[in-house]
Amino acid sequence: MAGQKISARGSMNINRTKLYYDQLETKELCDCASCKNYYHEIKSTYPNLAAYLSTLGIDIEKPFEVMPLEPYEGYIEYSGVQYIVFGKSSEFKNMTISGVRIELADSHPTTDVDEEHFVIEIYPIRLKWVNGDYSE
Ligand SMILES: [Zn+2]
Repeated sequence: MAGQKISARGSMNINRTKLYYDQLETKELCDCASCKNYYHEIKSTYPNLAAYLSTLGIDIEKPFEVMPLEPYEGYIEYSGVQYIVFGKSSEFKNMTISGVRIELADSHPTTDVDEEHFVIEIYPIRLKWVNGDYSE
């Protein structure tokens, strides 16, 4: 984000967020079928959403919390997917990208992060249900 002022107060910490996601390994994430389907399909299905989250330092393929519904007729919907962001939430703005709401999460499971952070939630997400076929 060129030209952005660095302020000690009230700002999201994009570099710290990016470092967190760089260091977070896929094997540390939930490995249930619904989550694996999400990791595999999300970027190609929602490229603009992935690009926006990456400007905040977030890797869209490494969610903190995934809330899947039952797969139905070849698709699976996620009622909410949450991401950890470092810094303060005051600069964060709710918005919609590609029909997906991006909001500050009302509630979320306890994180094990000691540093200042907040959690955002994106919804709804609808993906192809590849059912374990990650060959593409
Ligand atoms: Zn899972």
